[in-house]
Amino acid sequence: MKKNNNLLEVPNINSSDAHVKNLIYKIDDLFNSHYKSSQKSEYLCVCSGGTTSSCARNGLITLDLRKEYNQIHLEKEKNLIKIGGGVIMKDLMNYLEKHNKTFPTGLSKLPGAGYILTGGISPMSRRYGLAIDNIESIKGYLGNGNFISLEQNSLDSSQKLLWEGLKGAAPFLAIITEIGLKTFQSHPIQIIEGFVDDNELSKIINLAEGFPENLSLQWIYAEDIYIYIFAEIKNDSDNKITKNYLKKLEKFNSLKIKSYENYNQVNFFPKELDLFELNKNNHSEVISLLGGDLKDNVQIFVKCMNEIIRDKPNKSCYVASQQLGGKTKELNHKSSFFIHRASTWKPWIYAAWKKGDPKEKEIVLKWMNESWKKLKIFFPNIHLAQIHNHLNSHEEEVYLSFGERLSELKTLKNICDPESILPPL
Ligand SMILES: Cc1cc2nc3c(=O)[nH]c(=O)nc-3n(C[C@H](O)[C@H](O)[C@H](O)COP(=O)(O)OP(=O)(O)OC[C@H]3O[C@@H](n4cnc5c(N)ncnc54)[C@H](O)[C@@H]3O)c2cc1C
Repeated sequence: MKKNNNLLEVPNINSSDAHVKNLIYKIDDLFNSHYKSSQKSEYLCVCSGGTTSSCARNGLITLDLRKEYNQIHLEKEKNLIKIGGGVIMKDLMNYLEKHNKTFPTGLSKLPGAGYILTGGISPMSRRYGLAIDNIESIKGYLGNGNFISLEQNSLDSSQKLLWEGLKGAAPFLAIITEIGLKTFQSHPIQIIEGFVDDNELSKIINLAEGFPENLSLQWIYAEDIYIYIFAEIKNDSDNKITKNYLKKLEKFNSLKIKSYENYNQVNFFPKELDLFELNKNNHSEVISLLGGDLKDNVQIFVKCMNEIIRDKPNKSCYVASQQLGGKTKELNHKSSFFIHRASTWKPWIYAAWKKGDPKEKEIVLKWMNESWKKLKIFFPNIHLAQIHNHLNSHEEEVYLSFGERLSELKTLKNICDPESILPPL
């Protein structure tokens, strides 16, 4: 994990190239009075899966949770799993698979606890909710150093707002060392996947907006368009419904059906498909948007996407999307700080440039921002899965994420992290 004193070995290349000021592994070290006075409560980066550009920065301290907070413990009779704040989704899923259980993890198994704490949108979310909807307990330390241990079923009135804040906005308030999660019985999965053209994408998006909760659509538009329709087959009814949809999809000749024993075995957007150029010498940023059904606007949307892809500066950049709905729309927007519960689509823009090339970086970030601007009419809100306090867009992203709950969050932040050692709002 530690290449040398100042570099962190993480999947995100921006972060793995950062020369950090200091690497620490234990929370005790952070709040230890000698250390604290010597660092004068400087801004801290927290690393769990290490998949974002915010887990390590030049000249800043990183608290790497992967070594000391990587415990996994299943309480089988309660269908509950407790994981450390430094556990990655691959380890969680491999552990659950041994017990024939599953959890709504995202499209990749690389992310760590940051996936869960920032909301957690899964191909299974339409049936099981967001990752945060399945949190039963949380332990950790607020930015002010106070230890917290909260359980959903025994919250007192003074803990309710903090509980909601930790579900969706935890990175701004606390360092989470343990999360208790509901688990689910595993079931077989069918995937219908393949390349489609833009006209077919419009039709499939329209069809997906009527999907039952066991189905979801995810697509990527890079050089070409590739789609995945995900179906969980839990019972006869799922089987029947899925067969009906398969009939409707027969006219899309390039789509193929694949069957898997369980969700853990599915691998989305594999390298072999060569969907976009994956280059180890690239740095990147990602911005995630949220919006409702496209309905009659789907063709205008696809036209807009064609323009965005036509203008993309290199082969590494792309736009992709996940589908929400079903269970994620049922919960009240007050239940957590993932407030945009009416969302159906979460597209994200992936922008990458050759590291050490400031000119290309400027062009690529301009493309990302212009694409965001174009997509805003369809997807006006933000899913703050990546924290960009090093970019000019941070303030707007925070506002578009937390909207009407932002002032409550700022109040919580003043109490929980008064010296702002965690990312600012
Ligand atoms: C390949 C890939 C696929 C993805 N697919 C999905 C998807 O399907 N659905 C989805 O919703 N998102 C998805 N994401 C986004 C991802 O879930 C978020 O960016 C998430 O924040 C990454 O978490 P991490 O722990 O890996 O990152 P890190 O870089 O380690 O952490 C990011 C930030 O989160 C905060 N944080 C992390 N852990 C803790 C903790 N224990 N306590 C307090 N703060 C913490 C810190 O502020 C940290 O800087 C994907 C990302 C990648 C790279």
